[in-house]
Amino acid sequence: MNFEVSHALDWVNRINEKIQDNKGELTSLDQAIGDGDHGINMSRGFQEAVNKISGEDYSDVSGVWKDIATTLMSKVGGASGPLYGTVFLKMSTAVKGVENIDSQTFSSALKEAVSGIKQRGKAEAGEKTMLDVWEPLADKMSEVQDFDRQLILDTARSSMESTKDLVATKGRAAYLKERSKGHIDPGAMSSYYVFEALADCIKGDE
Ligand code: ADP
Ligand code: MG
Repeated sequence: MNFEVSHALDWVNRINEKIQDNKGELTSLDQAIGDGDHGINMSRGFQEAVNKISGEDYSDVSGVWKDIATTLMSKVGGASGPLYGTVFLKMSTAVKGVENIDSQTFSSALKEAVSGIKQRGKAEAGEKTMLDVWEPLADKMSEVQDFDRQLILDTARSSMESTKDLVATKGRAAYLKERSKGHIDPGAMSSYYVFEALADCIKGDE
């Protein structure tokens, strides 16, 4: 399959639904190792992103992702707004002018997103952040030839769960040092929903 404008619109709508449904959980996770605003940040950001794209007419995926990026950057405070904004901006740039976004193009865009998180967050793998979900996803997707729903779901779930045993060395959770262990990283959890939504929106198209 190719990832079309319709998929991009469906993706963000599904992300928003999952974030709204799990806002309380994201808040609780951030209360445990941060300041408790991740649910609020994400729910505001993705609701605004959905508001922005509905009613617009898009000719390419790049345009959809760019509008999501600028909305998240301008509407969401905290660390996650600029980081998620960067993710969508990097992906938007990566697919600009590309006619058919196949899974290889999509995974290259994810790799750009990963570089963006690393640059902006000064983060590396294993620091208990959203990067610990985005990087394995980009890597795994680049190893296969087509969009693979099960691979996306399995990779997202296992990498999100693996943040539980990590000690945070970036973001607010880093203040807790060893005490950050035993809790899933909130940004890894919201990223899990992003990829669960991706798996849902390619369902039937594989
Ligand atoms: P804040 O930390 O400013 O309160 P949020 O609570 O909305 O913002 O987001 C917290 C999440 O952002 C963390 O769980 C982590 O996944 C991600 N994060 C925070 N700082 C960084 C960083 N430097 N690099 C990568 N991700 C980060
Ligand atoms: Mg927070």
